[in-house]
Amino acid sequence: MSNLNPGDSPKSGGPVSAEQIADLAAASRVLVAQGVVDAFGHVSIRHPHAPERYLMACSIAPALVTPEDIIEYDLDSNPCNANGRSSFLERFIHGEIYKARADIHSIVHSHSPSVIPFGLVGVPMQAMFHNAAFIAEGVPVFDIRKKFGATDMLVSNAPKGVALAAVMGRKNVALMRAHGSVACGPTLQTAVFRAVYTEVNARIQHWTAALKGGAPIAALDLEEGRLSDAVNQTAGMRAWDLWRRQVRSEVKW
Ligand SMILES: [Zn+2]
Repeated sequence: MSNLNPGDSPKSGGPVSAEQIADLAAASRVLVAQGVVDAFGHVSIRHPHAPERYLMACSIAPALVTPEDIIEYDLDSNPCNANGRSSFLERFIHGEIYKARADIHSIVHSHSPSVIPFGLVGVPMQAMFHNAAFIAEGVPVFDIRKKFGATDMLVSNAPKGVALAAVMGRKNVALMRAHGSVACGPTLQTAVFRAVYTEVNARIQHWTAALKGGAPIAALDLEEGRLSDAVNQTAGMRAWDLWRRQVRSEVKW
């Protein structure tokens, strides 16, 4: 729990480069362009020099985010520098996953539509192709109802964030029943890549399920997933370079 008195702001973890802030703002627009977020959804990074802090936009639509909208938070999700800007209700997703997973440095939360059905039925997501290799390790489903009963479905406080992080465990993607998903990674680029390819993989799995009749799905196995994911985290960054350039021409930063 925080030691802050009401009205106090936690101390900043220190300056972050303009380039990293611009990349974080651009990531919101990349996720819009790739069909992962719409008017809702958010992306964060852990503070590059202070692991007990993270950065994400104030509560606005992802397509509108600029570097001036980025707020710093402590891991209890108290803003350090809100200056009158409002915070996302579901920022606790980010703070509590960062607390639970020192290896994670970026998180995307979205309601991307092709993914949601897998949280509603007992059909697990499988890795349909190499770009979605990270899915081969399995995708847990967080059902908020199990611990909290009937809610507004939002992860809008620390206990709900803790419960989500516990269900995610050591995985990098988790579904949220009747809500959406989270995709995480050791870098902003990898988290965005995983969020995009979780949505693409879901679409391919729907097509595959329609095509297969009674045949089993020859998805990537665990070892194929591990090998492919290692490649994706280097060569796969071509995707980020493309997506980042596309939004740079849109906003000139
Ligand atoms: Zn949400």
